[in-house]
Amino acid sequence: MTTVCIAGGGPAGVMLGLLLARSGVDVVVLEKHADFHRDFRGDTVHPATLQILDELGLAERFHELPHQRVHTIGVVQDGKRIDIADFRRLRVRYPYMAFVPQWDFLDLIASEAARYPGFRLMMSTEVLGVVRENGRIAGVRARGPEGEFEIRSTLVVAADGRHSAIRRDVGAVPRKIGKTLDVIFFRISRRDTDPDEGLCVRVGDGKIFGATDRRTYWQMFTETPKGGYEKVCRDGIEAFRADLAATVPFLADRVHELSSLDDLKLLEARIDRLDTWHAPGLLFIGDAAHAMSPVAGFGVNLAVQDAVATANALVAPLLNTQLTGAAFDDSALAAVQKRRRLTTTLSQGLQRATQRFGIDEALDGSGQPPAPKLFEKFAPAQWLMSRVIGLGFRPEHVRTPGTKQHERRI
Ligand SMILES: Cc1cc2nc3c(=O)[nH]c(=O)nc-3n(C[C@H](O)[C@H](O)[C@H](O)COP(=O)(O)OP(=O)(O)OC[C@H]3O[C@@H](n4cnc5c(N)ncnc54)[C@H](O)[C@@H]3O)c2cc1C
Repeated sequence: MTTVCIAGGGPAGVMLGLLLARSGVDVVVLEKHADFHRDFRGDTVHPATLQILDELGLAERFHELPHQRVHTIGVVQDGKRIDIADFRRLRVRYPYMAFVPQWDFLDLIASEAARYPGFRLMMSTEVLGVVRENGRIAGVRARGPEGEFEIRSTLVVAADGRHSAIRRDVGAVPRKIGKTLDVIFFRISRRDTDPDEGLCVRVGDGKIFGATDRRTYWQMFTETPKGGYEKVCRDGIEAFRADLAATVPFLADRVHELSSLDDLKLLEARIDRLDTWHAPGLLFIGDAAHAMSPVAGFGVNLAVQDAVATANALVAPLLNTQLTGAAFDDSALAAVQKRRRLTTTLSQGLQRATQRFGIDEALDGSGQPPAPKLFEKFAPAQWLMSRVIGLGFRPEHVRTPGTKQHERRI
């Protein structure tokens, strides 16, 4: 028996685990993988998340991790760069997006959480479904290295991502928003003579290629409509190299580094959202409640902010139940959705609009997408985008108390 059982050790689950444990709430996080290494799913840490790390006293340790700081996001169209966001315009302590391998970020949060006696992280443990009792969700069924078992808890938090097993088990079906895209990731080496351009997306001739400067290599992606990856496979690596060289000319001398289709990794990007994020004893957060596409790199920040809002709303009622045995007040769960719904809807709306007026038009190839031009013509648009990408529509702040140092497991 524990107070909170969290399914999924991604940004939402691990951050919530830390926040609850540091306030004295007993929490178990179940993660199906053996470690935090996984396919590329977003290495962006936004100014708002950096602020949260600062509030948790982790900013210094975070900045000791190998990272790159990206101050601007740009689009190159017709050979001309247009900055759509410049974080230096924000009045914040950390006016940049930090790029850190997600496993380093999660390791940092998990190692901090492990200092608190109430925190338990069970790796290689897959949640199979929920345990129901007296009309409530009363825990989870899981499979670990030693076989299947149950954990009972006052609250189950489903932070198990966009293919959530808990969502499936309770029959919650998210509403699909917009089209699904195929996103293909790959790496290519970086040279000192390459442009110094942070994160830049190049658009041309029906193609989109994005590049993030990782100092020794470029983390590249290209987006296509659903099924586009199959076409890439049919056309072969030669054709892919030619498209890359044509769209990103400074890489033309090294496209041969992509030796076969095995060097390309496909991930599917979708946007969806549950109408209701909670049931008695159960709360969905992060991608399990609202899957985000890679556009503007909102997803990790939103997942972390969900965790902060959840802890802010639930620590007091959870501690009350843990310490006195009183029944948990499920109405607090609705308060989490109420707080996060508008910011989620707006963020997904922006992703969808970018897809419609930027990505779709660029992939169509019939003309240049109108969206980047807006940033040239209308100066406040850049400030607004910097704010929305950097801080989100409603930044959350850590309001939960930390337990005293002597209560920690050092
Ligand atoms: C192709 C692509 C690229 C993206 N790029 C970016 C980006 O650059 N920046 C950005 O901010 N966002 C990006 N996103 C979105 C971002 O990945 C998500 O929004 C974010 O990871 C959500 O965090 P989460 O913790 O809710 O879920 P996840 O990160 O999906 O974490 C869920 C965790 O639960 C675990 N899990 C799943 N099922 C179970 C189970 N049954 N039992 C136990 N554990 C389970 C998983 O292993 C995982 O660790 C991208 C998304 C896609 C699809």
